[in-house]
Amino acid sequence: MKTLLIILTIIISETIMAQNYDFEQNLYQSYERYKEKSLTHRRFKHSDITPLIKKLKSRDGFTSKVVGKSVEGRKLELIAIGKGKTKIFMWSQMHGDEPTATAALFDIFNFINDPANKEFCKALFDKVTLYFLPMVNPDGAERFRRRNFYDIDLNRDASRLQCPEAVILKNVFDSLSADFGFNLHDQSHRYSVGNSFRTATISFLAPAYNYEKDFNDVRGKAVKLIGSMFQALSQFIPGHIAKYSDDYEQRAFGDNFQKWGTSTILIESGGWKDDPEKQFIRKLNFIALLSAFKSIAEESYLKTSSEIYESIPFNDKYIFDVILRNLTIKSGKEKIKVDVGINLDEFEGPNEKKIYYKSQVDDLGDLSVFYGYIDYDFNGYTIERASVYNDKVFSLKNLEDFDFYKLYSKGYSTILVKKLPDEKFTRLPINLALKNKIDTTINIGESANFVLKKNGKVEYIVINGFLQKVEKNRKFEGNGLVIK
Ligand SMILES: [Zn+2]
Repeated sequence: MKTLLIILTIIISETIMAQNYDFEQNLYQSYERYKEKSLTHRRFKHSDITPLIKKLKSRDGFTSKVVGKSVEGRKLELIAIGKGKTKIFMWSQMHGDEPTATAALFDIFNFINDPANKEFCKALFDKVTLYFLPMVNPDGAERFRRRNFYDIDLNRDASRLQCPEAVILKNVFDSLSADFGFNLHDQSHRYSVGNSFRTATISFLAPAYNYEKDFNDVRGKAVKLIGSMFQALSQFIPGHIAKYSDDYEQRAFGDNFQKWGTSTILIESGGWKDDPEKQFIRKLNFIALLSAFKSIAEESYLKTSSEIYESIPFNDKYIFDVILRNLTIKSGKEKIKVDVGINLDEFEGPNEKKIYYKSQVDDLGDLSVFYGYIDYDFNGYTIERASVYNDKVFSLKNLEDFDFYKLYSKGYSTILVKKLPDEKFTRLPINLALKNKIDTTINIGESANFVLKKNGKVEYIVINGFLQKVEKNRKFEGNGLVIK
């Protein structure tokens, strides 16, 4: 009898575990079915989500109401569904250029609306009510920048409440007295998990509510729920989950919401190799949030040990966009070996679908403790600054079908043009300038334009941080700079 009981217990507990595992696995496998197809990149605007919210109004169970307007008059809408006692409030994109979770919220709406999940949702909404405030900073999103119209960081306006968007967020928070809060952000894709070479793809935090970083029941619940989400995501991105800095910030929303009694969880979408538009990370947000809703409804998160949270490494900065290693710099008779660390900052083009990059040399020397998204060993190569071709001044019109191969092979990264375009960037695979300005050394803080030579022959060229093998008809994957 006793043996039978043990066997039964094992079978039951394994079934429960398998069920939990299956839930996230199923979400992972079936995600494409729910992905909101109209949101395809990170620079969507308020006008892209308005029709999606409008469509929700005709859906069973959803309500939405306008809770206020941004400085420029864009409407903020609170969407709700469920009739459960436990309230879960989530708000996204208070920083305008941090849209990954906003897109995931619309994927979640599609999941809820899918008849295949009717039973799951019925059970869920008996227990919880979900409240969503997507895109808290639509004016910032319009410009694809962090701050709002007044150039104020809304996440430093939680105490002073000077901006309408901050007032709205605070009012909604006060009106709900939610049990759980999800504060949804994007972080730099250059954060690593501790001092490892792994990108911090998702970072969690149960924000502190005082400078001492104490734990109470409210914060303790957030800690346990993060433990549960950590387990849910680790099967897809093992080693790529970190913890955001837990320093108390008295002007931030998450820290105050924790203080005011809502178990608050920060989710930061970071970086993942070959996912510049963060569409995979969007999928991880979708899984993490649904997994958290389930775990809250079933109260299963209470069983997770808070040690999981404690053991998650903090974010650190061990990642560059590009590292070119073991290059030789020649200076007269002297030779030194260097690694070159380059970062590429992105800018929205006149057309939101395009992004442009501006490169910067951020470090030189021994970078062996760092990792690069693009990371090559150039042992045996020398590096020199690329030059400006000044035998001819080009007209922009003539450059459309120009073969740049010859210029590359002679080490030119920049050409002179009669008139510079208005923009700061060019789709052309070369930099444009009005006059020849040559610096002979490689310096930190400057844009990355180099030639890499082997046995005196140019084999690679770096144009605005983009590495290009010098070969005929090779496509350039990047953009040039307009040097003003
Ligand atoms: Zn943020």
